[in-house]
Amino acid sequence: MTSFERKEKRRLFVLRCFTCGRVHNIDDYGKFYYCEKCGGLLEVRLERELRNHVKEISQERRRGVWKYLQTIPLWDEANIVSLGEGDTILVECKRLVKKLGLKKSLFVKFEGQNPTGSFKDRGMTVGVSKAKEMGFRKVICASTGNTSASLAAYSARAGLHCTVLVPKGKIALGKISQAIAYGADILQVEGNFDACLRMARELSEKSREILLLNSLNPFRIEGQKTAAFEIVEQLGFVPDDVILPVGNGGNISALWKGFQELVDFGIMGKDTKKLPRMTAVQAEGAAPIARAFLSGRRGVIDDVKDPHTEASAINIGSPVSWQKALAAVYDSGGFADYVSDDEIFRAQRLLAASEGLFVEPASAAPIAYLLKILHGRDDLSSSLFEKIKSSTIVCIATGTGLKDPNAILRNTTEAQMKVVSSDSKSLENAILTFS
Ligand SMILES: [Zn+2]
Repeated sequence: MTSFERKEKRRLFVLRCFTCGRVHNIDDYGKFYYCEKCGGLLEVRLERELRNHVKEISQERRRGVWKYLQTIPLWDEANIVSLGEGDTILVECKRLVKKLGLKKSLFVKFEGQNPTGSFKDRGMTVGVSKAKEMGFRKVICASTGNTSASLAAYSARAGLHCTVLVPKGKIALGKISQAIAYGADILQVEGNFDACLRMARELSEKSREILLLNSLNPFRIEGQKTAAFEIVEQLGFVPDDVILPVGNGGNISALWKGFQELVDFGIMGKDTKKLPRMTAVQAEGAAPIARAFLSGRRGVIDDVKDPHTEASAINIGSPVSWQKALAAVYDSGGFADYVSDDEIFRAQRLLAASEGLFVEPASAAPIAYLLKILHGRDDLSSSLFEKIKSSTIVCIATGTGLKDPNAILRNTTEAQMKVVSSDSKSLENAILTFS
């Protein structure tokens, strides 16, 4: 870090209300979580002047999230709490392109390669580093699973006390075992995710000693936006379409912010002018953002009181970042839709069996969406597929399939996992029966 960055960096970032635009002091975050004027969501904005100070990113020696430190509001790099997050593979899926009848190219950004197996690590490395920098000793989050695993890991590494609230009985096996191993205090709430988040918010707003690290925390978004930077670096250009699974809406907002910053600040060392279309895919039983979009609304959504999907990572009925998510979809000229759990499980298997990528159910939602519009018989599906088939598409796979082994086992039949006697004749016969 140059002395300029150490002394002056603070000046180049502000915390701005997404709704009314009011500017807040970024160093006071944690004393408040929402706009003090209108209660809106807060976001980190980079001042225009930063453009005059950015270094060419190709000269950066770090890898992953912290390669982009100059765009992240951390003042002292000594506070970085890292497990080597980011720098995940972007896989070109040629076999899937053929199967889906696409004409150009399809890539999957496999975020399951992050240290705790999901994209949440990009946000948590920044969120926990910032908690350390601001002097917090305790952190808390509500979670459908991945957030708790990630916060628990980074808190352990930072020596912070970590409490996680999860909906009782609704967390995938892999995720809850991670939180246990990392030594978090785990509270199973008799209620859904939305209830967990409300409780965590109320406590952190009251106590002022415990920092809330859910996705409404704007520092997490600053880490997550780096996935957009990586995609452009890996491809060498900006893709036409980016398709994401959407629960709370934080990640689609983060990537959209990242793509916009590439245009605004030229951090790739050359002028990037293009922006991708952002498409949000939700599960049918938890699709308030998609339903708002499909009925042409931008300013209001109807919460889903009792959300239900087996894709637990996106089982959210009251998405906290819905305004930002809808803005990303509308402003980018993208789309929002939902898919059924059956479509999700089909897509999960197709992606694994075609490309060797085993992702958790929620992460298969973008592929399920492509299948849906491919096979859709209505005019809307045909026109969407027409629009997308000749473009370069990037699907974000947010977490590894190992997070939720039961999801795949529940949907496995005896015919797929046969029992044979221990002789070679039986083996021969058994192989012949697999189609
Ligand atoms: Zn406001």
